[in-house]
Amino acid sequence: MENPLTSEEPLPQFTRIRAEHVEPALREVLSANRARIGELARLEQPTFASVVEPLEELHHRLARTWSPVSHLNAVMNSDALRAAYNAGLPLLSAYQTDLAQSEPLYRAYRTITAQAGAALAPVQRGLLDHALRDFRLAGVDLPAERKERFKTAMLELAQLQAKFEENVLDATNSWTRHVTDAGELRGLNEVLIAQALRRAQEQRAPGWILALDQPTYVAVVTDAESPKLRRDFYEAWTTRASDQGPTAGRWNNAMLMEEILKRRHAAAQLLDFPSYAQYALATRMAHTVDEVLGFLHELAAAGRASARAELAELEGFAGAKLAAWDVGFYAERLQRERFRVSQEELRPYFPLPKVLAGLFGVAERLFGVRIHERAGVPVWHADVRYFEISSAAGESVGSFYLDAYARPHKRSGAWMDECVGRKRLISGTALPVAYLVCNFLPPGEDRPALLTHDDVLTLFHEFGHGLHHLLTRVDYPSIAGVNGVAWDAVELPSQFLENYAWHPQVLGSISGHFHSGAPLPADSQTRLIATRSFHAGLALMRQLEFALFDFRIHSEYSPERGGRISEILREVRSEVAVVPVPEWNRFANSFGHIFAGGYAAGYYSYKWAEVLAADAFAAFEEQGVFDRATAQRFLDAILSRGGSRDPLEAFIEFRGRRPDVRPLLRQHGIIAPGAGERAA
Ligand SMILES: [Zn+2]
Repeated sequence: MENPLTSEEPLPQFTRIRAEHVEPALREVLSANRARIGELARLEQPTFASVVEPLEELHHRLARTWSPVSHLNAVMNSDALRAAYNAGLPLLSAYQTDLAQSEPLYRAYRTITAQAGAALAPVQRGLLDHALRDFRLAGVDLPAERKERFKTAMLELAQLQAKFEENVLDATNSWTRHVTDAGELRGLNEVLIAQALRRAQEQRAPGWILALDQPTYVAVVTDAESPKLRRDFYEAWTTRASDQGPTAGRWNNAMLMEEILKRRHAAAQLLDFPSYAQYALATRMAHTVDEVLGFLHELAAAGRASARAELAELEGFAGAKLAAWDVGFYAERLQRERFRVSQEELRPYFPLPKVLAGLFGVAERLFGVRIHERAGVPVWHADVRYFEISSAAGESVGSFYLDAYARPHKRSGAWMDECVGRKRLISGTALPVAYLVCNFLPPGEDRPALLTHDDVLTLFHEFGHGLHHLLTRVDYPSIAGVNGVAWDAVELPSQFLENYAWHPQVLGSISGHFHSGAPLPADSQTRLIATRSFHAGLALMRQLEFALFDFRIHSEYSPERGGRISEILREVRSEVAVVPVPEWNRFANSFGHIFAGGYAAGYYSYKWAEVLAADAFAAFEEQGVFDRATAQRFLDAILSRGGSRDPLEAFIEFRGRRPDVRPLLRQHGIIAPGAGERAA
C-alpha cells in the first residue's frame, strides 16, 4: 500500500492521510536520509552541487512528510494522531541532533566554503555561512570533553525548564477564590459567573469559585468592581511559584531560576561566548549586548513622560491614587468613555469575504500579484479554502490554504506555517505552499463569518507571514521564505502588514456592513484608529521592564555573584516602572517566556520587530501607502530574500539608513506627528 505521506504529489493528500501512516512514513524517510547523508559525508571532493544541494533535497523531503502531520495534529487533533505525532517527535529530534553535530558534514561545508567561496553566488555563500554558524552553535567543533559538558548542560537545561513550567502550572491550578457575596462579582461577565457557579456546585460549596486561569485573571483585574477581589487575584497571580502570596514556598521556582541561568551561562562559555545573551545574539539581527540595551534605554527615555502623564490622567479620572491592580480596571472604563468603540459592535462591518477581498486587494496593489481561489484541492476540513498566487505576468508563484474558523479539536490562536517550501534544485523544483490558520467565529445560518477589528489585525498579521513565505525567490529550502530568518526580524513582514488594517484608505475597502454593504462610518473609523495609541506609553514601559530584565540577567550573570535576579529586577523597575509595583510581586517566578521557553535573552524582539515594521511602513507613508516602487524595493530587499542575507543590511538597503525608533513612537502618539527623522 502506498503511504500518502511519502507520495511525490505536489500537495499533501489530506483526505487520505491516517494516523497509522505517520510512523512508517517518518521512519522510511529518516532512514533513507541517514543512508544518503552517510554517503555524502564520505565524498572525497565535496562541492556545493555534490553535497549541499542533495542535503537541501533531503531537508525538503523530510519537511514534506512531517509538515502535514504536525499541521493535522494542530487542526484536526485526535488521540490516534496525537499518539503518532508524539511517537515521531523523538525520532525527529534524534535525527536533527545527529545532523547538527555531524563532524564529517561540518568538515565538508568548511572545505566547500574554503575552496569555492568566491565562485559561489551570494545566496549560496549565505547558506553556507548559516550552516557553519549552526554547526558551531551546536558544539560540533568542541574538543571531546567540552562537547560532553555542553551536551550535559543542554540536557539539564531542558529538564530544569520543564520543571519550572510544571511549578507554574501547579501553582496556578492550586489556587481558587471562593465568593459567597454576589456583590463581589459585580462587573464580571455572565459566562465567567456561570462557570464559577458550576465549579462551586461540583464541589458542593455555596456561592461561586473562581479559578486562576489566565482569561479569568485578565477578566477580574479588568472588570471586577470589587478592589478586594482584584487585589486577591493580582496577588495570587504575581506570586505564583514563589516565596510570597497564598501558596508561598510550595512550588518556589527561585532555585530553579538560578540553576537555569547558571547552565545557560556555562553552555555559552563552552562555545566561547562571554554570556548567554551574546550566544543568543549569534543568530539575531541585533549583534551586540550594547546595541540591545541601547535600543531599550532609548525607548524607555522616550516613553517615560507619556506613561507618567497617562497614569496621572487615569488617577484624575479615578479620583484616587491607583494600585497595580486598579490600573487595568480604570483604564478599561476611561477607554470606553472616551472612544465608545467596542469590538463586538464592529463585527457586522467586517464580514470575512469582504475583509479577504480587501486584504488580497492590498497585496495585489502592493506587489502586483493576483490571488484566485481554486476548488477541488484535497483539504482536511470542509471549511478550508485554497488560493493560488500568480505574478502580474500570470506565472504561478505559490499557494495557500486558509482554515479560518474555530472548531473542536483545533488548537487555539492563529499562525502561518510552511506546507511546502520553495526549492529550485538540480533534483527538481517546488513552489511554496502555506497554511494560514485562524480561530474566528464561524458563519451563522443567515450571515457570513463576522470579524472584530482584532480578528482583522490577526488575519493581516498571518497573511504578512504568508507573503514572506510565498513571495520568496530563494531556491534553497533551508533559507527560503521564513526559514533561517533572524528571529528578531521574522515578525517584520507580519507587523508591517498590520499597519494596513489601521489605515483609513484600507478600512474603507475591507469593511462593509453585512446587511447594507455600507463601509465602517467615518467617525467610527476615527474613534477606532484613536484607540491604537491609548495608554501606549504605559504599555511600552511595561514591555521594556520585561525586556530589560530578561536581557540583563542573561548578559550580567557571573558564576561568582550568581544571577542577582531580584537585584536586577529592582534596578530595572526603578528605571522604567511607572505603575508602582508591590514589594511582594514575584512575576519573574512565573515568567515562562524566558525561564522555560524560547524567549531567553529574546524578549526585546517584540519591540525590535515593531520598530522595524513601523519604520518600514513609514517609508510607504512618505511615498503613499500603495507606492509600487517602494513596495518593489521592500520585496527585493527584504520580503523575497528569506534567510539568505544579513537582516540589517537588507533593512538598510530598503530604507537607506539604520532602523529608527521614531516612526513607532509617532504611531503610538508618544511623540508628535511632526517630529523629524533622526539625523543620520
Ligand atoms: Zn507573527
